[in-house]
Amino acid sequence: MTTTAANSQHPANSLELRNLRKTFGSLEVLRGVSLSAQKGEVISLIGASGSGKSTLLRCVNLLEKPTAGDIILDGETLALKTGKAGLEAANRRQAERFRSRLGMVFQSFNLWQHMTVLQNVMEGPLHVQKRPKSDAMAEAKTVLERVGLGKKFDAYPAQLSGGQQQRAAIARALAMQPDVMLFDEPTSALDPELVGEVLNVIRELAEEGRTMLLVTHEMRFAREVSDRVIYLHNGIIEEEGPPSQVFDNPSSDRCRAFVSSIH
Ligand code: ADP
Ligand code: MG
Repeated sequence: MTTTAANSQHPANSLELRNLRKTFGSLEVLRGVSLSAQKGEVISLIGASGSGKSTLLRCVNLLEKPTAGDIILDGETLALKTGKAGLEAANRRQAERFRSRLGMVFQSFNLWQHMTVLQNVMEGPLHVQKRPKSDAMAEAKTVLERVGLGKKFDAYPAQLSGGQQQRAAIARALAMQPDVMLFDEPTSALDPELVGEVLNVIRELAEEGRTMLLVTHEMRFAREVSDRVIYLHNGIIEEEGPPSQVFDNPSSDRCRAFVSSIH
């Protein structure tokens, strides 16, 4: 266990967002979102299409420039400065360090097609973390075995099913040993019969005590794995609580309608 000054101030919070805002032109997509994920906490983000879920995850790892707000990891605030399209990192090295602690999994896998599965997973440890090749390869093999792809090291993405590709994408994120995993509708692009194998991997990660922020339309799964569920509506947290509250007894009528429309 490492104890830094930052850690001791915020002992339990792994990821914290304070008043995050994002506008695209005149469109206000995030209108002040604050949340904190404690270490090991699994938070599901639900909400209608267009409510800002993807934008929120993308702002967290600076794929999108927030308009205002703070991003805090383990008590350390990411330094931001005003740029053209919003806030950008004031310190590139700090931003890279932050981003390498966040593992992102997208709906569309985003594997490099010209590389084998093993090469895809080694890429981050090798070129971002600059770990020795033998070390990167050992790490990649370990995480691929964990997601059930121990026999697919040399396959190319096109030779895999969607479920296998998404598991490889999860392995690629895990190989960076992230503190927080961000999932953006990881099963939405999959044929129904392939959803289960990906959810099983995510469930195992949740049970291991990983900190996770998961955007999903799989309400039964969200209920099962989440410590907390956040319902986003028009860029604002409209309901937030344990799954039993958000799904069974929400105070927001809109949340109730949304949840029952998906069930
Ligand atoms: P969700 O993931 O909840 O479906 P998004 O975060 O993708 O929602 O989008 C929220 C809103 O932001 C939508 O109205 C969408 O059209 C808009 N939006 C997202 N990305 C951009 C962009 N790069 N430029 C302009 N508008 C965007
Ligand atoms: Mg989305």
